[in-house]
Amino acid sequence: MTNDGTPSRGTSFGSTSLRGVSSLRGGLVDHRMARRATINEVHRGRLGREEVCDAHPELMRAARSVGKRTETPCPICSEDNLVLVTYVFGPKLPSHGRLAADNKELAQFHRRAEEYTAYVVEACCSCRWHYLVRALPIGGQRGRRQVG
Ligand SMILES: [Zn+2]
Repeated sequence: MTNDGTPSRGTSFGSTSLRGVSSLRGGLVDHRMARRATINEVHRGRLGREEVCDAHPELMRAARSVGKRTETPCPICSEDNLVLVTYVFGPKLPSHGRLAADNKELAQFHRRAEEYTAYVVEACCSCRWHYLVRALPIGGQRGRRQVG
C-alpha cells in the first residue's frame, strides 16, 4: 500500500540509472506477489524445497563470482543473504544469455540500437533458491544523431 516499488535501498543493480526501463514497473507488483506465493507454498509444505531450490550450476557459479550481495536473507533457508545476478538476452548474444558483471556493462547494452532484455535473478548460494526478480527492456536507442 505504501510501497511503490521504487528501488531506493540500493539492493538492486540500479534500474533507475538506466533511462527508459520504467515501463515494466506496472507488472512488478504481480511478479512480487507470485514470488511471495511461491515462498508461502514452500513454508506451508505444499512445495518441496527441491522444487524451488534447483538453481542451475552455472547460475550458482555466477552468483558466487559476480553476484551482488543484498541485505535480504534467503526466504527459504534464512542461512545466507540473497545475491542478484543479471543476464542479458538479445540479438547476437548466446541463447543462454550473457552474464552482466556490473552496471557499466548494462549501461553499454542500453546505449545500443538493438533491443535487449535484462533478467535480474535472485539466488541463494546456500540452498540454491532462485527466482526472477524482474525483466528489464534495455537498449533500443534509436536516436540517430550522426548525419549521413
Ligand atoms: Zn537459501
